[in-house]
Parts: sequence; structure tokens; C-alpha cells
Amino acid sequence: MTIAFFLDRDGTLNVEKGYIRNVQDLELIPGVAQAVRRLNDAGILAILTTNQTGAARGFYDLTHIHALNQRLQDLLLQEAGAHLDAVYYCPHLGKGIVAEFAVDCQCRKPEPGMIQQALGRFPEIDVSSSYVLGDKASDVAFGKQAGCKSVLLKTGYGQRVLEGKYQSLPEPPDYVFDDMPQAVLGILSELGLYKTGLTAS
Ligand SMILES: [Mg+2]
Ligand SMILES: [Zn+2]
Repeated sequence: MTIAFFLDRDGTLNVEKGYIRNVQDLELIPGVAQAVRRLNDAGILAILTTNQTGAARGFYDLTHIHALNQRLQDLLLQEAGAHLDAVYYCPHLGKGIVAEFAVDCQCRKPEPGMIQQALGRFPEIDVSSSYVLGDKASDVAFGKQAGCKSVLLKTGYGQRVLEGKYQSLPEPPDYVFDDMPQAVLGILSELGLYKTGLTAS
């Protein structure tokens, strides 16, 4: 049985800074690289699933989104020898201004399209034993719709979501953690997969 962690990007892996126009501004949340490495070492798939409406809004093109995702992979590798097994992003927004991306798609969270894409590539994933981690109510809804366990993090918008000040939760998340590294610690411990110490990268 293969477990996947479907990871949101902004506010989950990297510090929430709004639309990141300068690639160098993408900065990992402390401990995230080591936490992704723990997933890698435990044989759990680490899969990025991120809404990136900057393209539909005309702020930047797909090349820039690819560059941001590459910087994320580079930082994970440099800090902890960690990697994401796959990267999925949705550049769409129904009310966007760039025609190519101004469509109502099936891949914008909370629609489950990105998880369906991942299942096409990794059919061995057991969805009901997998987790969606994110900082917005839409991430929780995404997890519920896909049939995964939902994990809300207090980083990014998460604290405001919990206080009812940003989006509204479709139903309570299955787990709430302070940040992504705490979620990995908590869930791997529950699964009996948490190992103390970390092999050198
Ligand atoms: Mg986010
Ligand atoms: Zn989409």
C-alpha cells in the first residue's frame, strides 16, 4: 500500500508572501525540507498540489511558475537531500484575464483533478490512507472531495481559517497542526513510521 502526502505550496511548504514575482523570494518554512526528507525515507510519496492563479491573472507566465517550483525542489535538495515525487499545479481561474487560463477547470482546488492526475501516474496510491496538507479551507475541502484525510496547518492562512476570519471550513479537518513539520511528526508517529535521527543527505 502506498501512502501519499498531497502538499499545498504557499503557506504550507514556503512562507506565504502573496504572489511571488521574484523567484529568490520563495523561502521554505523552517523544518520543511527535513520533514519532506522523512517522507522520502519512509517511502511515502510527497506530491505538490497547488493552485497558481498568477498565470490566469496575468501576473506572470507558466515559465515563472515552473521556475518557482524548481526553486522549491532546489531548496529541499540543498537543505535536506529531499525531493517532491511529482508536481501538479492549476494555473486556471474562471474569472481570470488571460483567455488561455480563464476557464472553469476540474483541477482548481477544491476540485479533485490534481489528485486524479496523480493517480493516473501512481495508481498504487491508496487514497483513503493518504493525506492532504494545506493552510486554507479549500485545501480541507480538496482532501474531503478526493477521499483523503485532511490536515489543516496554522501557517499561512491557517490560523485565520481556524478563527473564522478567512474562508469557511466545509467540515472540520481530520487533523490540525502548527506547521507541516509537526504534521509529519504527528502522522508518521501515529503510523509507527517516525524514526528518530535523520540520515545525512
Ligand atoms: Mg496555501
Ligand atoms: Zn485548473
